[in-house]
Amino acid sequence: MDERCTLKRCFSHPPPEVFEAARLLDAAVSAHMLGRREIAEQLIRLADMPAIAGWTNSIWGTGGPWSRPRPVNDPLPYLPEFQRAAKRMPGKTELVALLRRDGFRCRFCRMPLVRKETRDHLRGAYPSALRWESNKNIDQHTALQAMWLQYDHIVPHSRGGTSELDNMLVTCAPCNYGRGHLTLEEVGLLDPRSDEVQPSDWDGLERFRP
Ligand SMILES: [Zn+2]
Repeated sequence: MDERCTLKRCFSHPPPEVFEAARLLDAAVSAHMLGRREIAEQLIRLADMPAIAGWTNSIWGTGGPWSRPRPVNDPLPYLPEFQRAAKRMPGKTELVALLRRDGFRCRFCRMPLVRKETRDHLRGAYPSALRWESNKNIDQHTALQAMWLQYDHIVPHSRGGTSELDNMLVTCAPCNYGRGHLTLEEVGLLDPRSDEVQPSDWDGLERFRP
């Protein structure tokens, strides 16, 4: 059988609630820009849906893909710290180029994404609607948690991957943490670099200004 037939594009498609939450958050930002703060606040609360947390936990939680690697021939070894690339993450200029290339959607599951910096601005303006305890997953806004934009290594840094842009992808938090230190082959995912980036009108809520 063709090996590609056993590979998937993503671990599990985001539930419809994610896309509904993205629509609500987009409307919240539009309301905010028009000075309609009460409506914006209400929309941010509505986007915080329990069903999204259930999906996120099924990927990054106990029993997720990271916990059951597939056997592969000649797996890449885990490198000791001193043998890993000294620079784990790309610099600011490279991150801008990466965002321009990949846009604000997960390259695996196509989930709309929001950068941490944008979420922080939004939280600063609406602290009670946008709950976010940094060390407690259960106390984070479910939609913005799943939609948390990540700069993900294709070959993991711990397995010899570099911060060069051809080894980096924009992904969502579940796809990033659900894979952990495993290679694409070990989790049975197709390499998204073989697909063109699809155009999208999702702006990552980047137009938000406090
Ligand atoms: Zn994803």
